[in-house]
Amino acid sequence: MQYDSKIYQLNSLRLGLIHEDNIQNKPSIFVAVGSQAVETKSRIKKYIDLHQAGTHNVIIIPHDFDGTEPGDNHEIYTYYETQLSVEFYLTEKIPRGHSFFKDFGKPMENFTEYHFDENTKFIKRVCETGFGKSKVFCDKPFAHNYIHPDGRIRLCCTTKQNLPTNNNYNLFNAGTHSIDDYWNSDRMKEVRRKMIAGEKIKDCERCYQQESQGVQSLRTTQNMEEYIRDTLPDGTYLKSATEMQIQMGNICNLKCKMCSQMYSHMHGLETLAIGEQDPEWFHWVKEQGANVNNWTNDLGRKEEWYKNPDTKQKMFDHISKNIESLVVIGGEPTLIPEFYEMFEHCEKNGTLGDKSITLVTNLTNTNPKMTEWLPKLQAWTIWASVDGIKERTEYIRYPSRWDKVLESLDFYKKNIGNNGKIVLSPAVQLLNIDQLDDIIKWWKDWCGGELNEQFGWTWLATVWYPLICNPSIAPREWRLKVADKLSKYQFDEYYENIIKSLREDKHTEEQYRELQKSFIKYNDRQDQFRDVPHTWRQLLPELDQSLTNSLK
Ligand code: SF4
Repeated sequence: MQYDSKIYQLNSLRLGLIHEDNIQNKPSIFVAVGSQAVETKSRIKKYIDLHQAGTHNVIIIPHDFDGTEPGDNHEIYTYYETQLSVEFYLTEKIPRGHSFFKDFGKPMENFTEYHFDENTKFIKRVCETGFGKSKVFCDKPFAHNYIHPDGRIRLCCTTKQNLPTNNNYNLFNAGTHSIDDYWNSDRMKEVRRKMIAGEKIKDCERCYQQESQGVQSLRTTQNMEEYIRDTLPDGTYLKSATEMQIQMGNICNLKCKMCSQMYSHMHGLETLAIGEQDPEWFHWVKEQGANVNNWTNDLGRKEEWYKNPDTKQKMFDHISKNIESLVVIGGEPTLIPEFYEMFEHCEKNGTLGDKSITLVTNLTNTNPKMTEWLPKLQAWTIWASVDGIKERTEYIRYPSRWDKVLESLDFYKKNIGNNGKIVLSPAVQLLNIDQLDDIIKWWKDWCGGELNEQFGWTWLATVWYPLICNPSIAPREWRLKVADKLSKYQFDEYYENIIKSLREDKHTEEQYRELQKSFIKYNDRQDQFRDVPHTWRQLLPELDQSLTNSLK
């Protein structure tokens, strides 16, 4: 798009400085600056230098970001000219709805540059790195594909919003739509435009919330300038994503305590079966929703969207051609033939060597073919879902077997080569927090003494919901005792935070009672139905006693 001063005239274009005569034959940078932004004083120097060097026109657009800034145009000129000694072109303060911003995109933060070449053709818009970093921009809509176990497509794993098709009546689903169908859909373009303009996105509420509480979110702005440069004003992003997280349905062989039917079809089938014996319990679970079971209304349903031959083929082509970093989750991927077909497809196309693949697995199953594929990958990582020592993980990840878990871990260790990595990813929760120190010690031993580049640990699977899995619901007396035990060992900052959090009271008296009663009712019934070799009461006798005392 060409800059035409007659059309885009920035208010009075003060003193007539910005005429086509003035700005042609030199590249120009318009800088939308939060008029009295705190960083202005120190940052403006860069533009003064550039202007004085005579290589560019530099034109400052003072901009009122939130519409609350005091001061009229006169005060703003005074501020720039006297306080900041600005010696280059300065327009009047202009509103967000100005046609300039409509055509070239709204400012993202306090210092947004609009670049035009010497023919006044618009080239790019960037937000200068290192200051005024966006609080809403995220790399994901430019770099990442995310597919939920039911095939729905989202911005990433954090959000719960599914992406709608252009008519807004349907949702994109990997079972019927290809990645190309959604990548530049109306909604994706809108998300990108808004992020670039510094506007909040409903889909991203969770990240904003976490950040406002001082918790690190998944939002990253690492490549912000590059992505913005490659985005058209309407939000179209012409490149493909290079990262993908794909949840290959919900077929699983386990019924883990913190899981739900969305991630394991076995979970839903079991809840239905218990419900046949005990309708009161079944209806109670449904009413409790996220407190006890992350209820989804699709009990026992198998999610197998990846079996559609047409979309599967397109998906594999996309992965083979574009994706550099791939995370595969289930269900349990190692039970799904299409997971291995994907490797075969990439191998046939000679693209395995471009890929870093992360596999999240419950370690109940391995495939000897992996020994051929793993060394060919650029890098691979196993996220090992182990939630406790021996019978504790067998209980939480029912009906897994400890000996099989060790066998699978050994399988990956033998094949680790130079490009492999094994990361323990325990789902930290009420049923295992008392042995967190023991789990870490066991893991370090298994890794050969110390964690390093190839043997790691992640906290990312820590359980927040269902609430009855959250350690915060335990009686105070028990939590303090566990905190004392854990604090004898030092590990890392997150470990320290867990201990700190155990010492805090997070609920009202009434909430404690209700959640504790729910924990007991849910787990007692499940234990009885499963006929487990060890019940939670046998595995955690002190918790049992403490709950009994608390509920007297
Ligand atoms: S801001 Fe958060 S929720 Fe939004 S796309 Fe990025 S990581 Fe996902």
